[in-house]
Amino acid sequence: MTQFTELGLAEPVLKAIAAEGYTKPTPIQEQAIPTLLTGRDLVGIAQTGTGKTAAFVLPLLSRLAANPGRPVSKMARILILAPTRELAAQIAESVRVYGSQMKLTTTIVVGGVKPGGQVRALARGVDVLVATPGRLLDHMETGAVKLSGTEAVVLDEADQMMDMGFLPAIRKVMKAIPTRRQTLLFSATMPKEIRALANDFLNDPAEVAVATVSKPAERIDQAVYMVKGDAKPRLLAELLSADDMDRAIVFTRTKHGADKVVRYLANEGLYAEAIHGNKSQNQRIRALDNFKKGKAPILVATDIAARGIDVDGVSHVVNMDMPNLPESYVHRIGRTARAGKSGIALSFVGNDERGYLRDIEKLIGRKIDRIELAEDMALDLSLPEEPGPHTKQSRGGGGGRGRSQGGGHRQGGQSQNRNRSGGGGGGKGSRSKPGGSRDGGDRSAARSESAGGGSRQGGGQKRRSKPNKSWSPVS
Ligand code: AMP
Repeated sequence: MTQFTELGLAEPVLKAIAAEGYTKPTPIQEQAIPTLLTGRDLVGIAQTGTGKTAAFVLPLLSRLAANPGRPVSKMARILILAPTRELAAQIAESVRVYGSQMKLTTTIVVGGVKPGGQVRALARGVDVLVATPGRLLDHMETGAVKLSGTEAVVLDEADQMMDMGFLPAIRKVMKAIPTRRQTLLFSATMPKEIRALANDFLNDPAEVAVATVSKPAERIDQAVYMVKGDAKPRLLAELLSADDMDRAIVFTRTKHGADKVVRYLANEGLYAEAIHGNKSQNQRIRALDNFKKGKAPILVATDIAARGIDVDGVSHVVNMDMPNLPESYVHRIGRTARAGKSGIALSFVGNDERGYLRDIEKLIGRKIDRIELAEDMALDLSLPEEPGPHTKQSRGGGGGRGRSQGGGHRQGGQSQNRNRSGGGGGGKGSRSKPGGSRDGGDRSAARSESAGGGSRQGGGQKRRSKPNKSWSPVS
């Protein structure tokens, strides 16, 4: 097994990663770092969680260490482009950590904040500039930054930048950087537009690939609940109360939905914070910080906002709503099981989301285990399917508001433990068996269980007669 010391990294970089507690390079680091240290261009096919940030930051910092010098005013020696503010902030944080033993200036240039501070920081010149393409272009147009002195550029999560419409901006940025540069492109997928971008802007790149997007990390234990839309919040609260739920990210389809979940959980005595596009940059930073530090053990996020979230120790990802793009599922669950750890990904599939589940299973190439629910929560699979929830819908009632806090919570956790261990054999009266049984089997099991009455577990909580205030499935 290769050690970091064998890769040719500069001394201060090695010191910093030792201080971080990294002992061995990840596969992408092992493959990419030696090549990048030669100055060669590189295409990396890797998703987050593989250690790809360090794979490009470490050799680029080594390059700076080997050739120190004050950055020139308005110039950036190294430019890293990322699709979202969160990812940009995360990368900048990594640069600071890995560059902690060097004299280094790092600046972030992203939208959503006033440009003045960024302009001032750029005026001094920076070693490493981490930016989202749109705001960078703004600064280029006003002359606040010049890329004529940039020595290396990284396009991170290129497929996501493309999905967000950044390709024209990226092309403009690339044209402003001298061709005598090192260029790196990282992407989880390699659609032909990204391939074309690489052909246009990279020079004879080396290519490294680790686990493609269609193969979610094997360490993630995945399961789905076929659940009535109005039972989702109740199920969520029960699962989130489980003992092994250290740190969870809950995904909702919409910003409004994310806020609603936070309020619902608060009612249930569970503290969560939301992160989405309607929050200011400062609110997002605070929420993420609270989540990282464990002050908020639950983070409720929308897809875009969650892009750059790189928090170690996320034990669970819960998909309160299924994403309509199957690739998003893979990105979402990749928030757990990072840095060699295992993780659990649980998905709630309502009647209008069954098609999404089929698409996801097609993409990942296997059927995801079902966890059975008692009848008051279980989706009746004999119902005709509804179309995907692009439009707002409302199925109020039954959400469990006013349910006494704590009741039945622990039970939800048992289901997960069972799920995690992959064991079959449900406890009495519970849905259990994450055994991938077919839909029909699930249904009959749920029905027979429901006859069991009171002590159902994990979502089998007895339904209150008092209806919930109009909880509509997150839409
Ligand atoms: P990334 O794929 O860049 O988003 O990184 C995923 C996580 O792995 C981050 O939390 C890094 O801090 C961590 N990480 C990166 N490289 C290593 C390594 N060689 N050993 C242990 N953890 C690492």
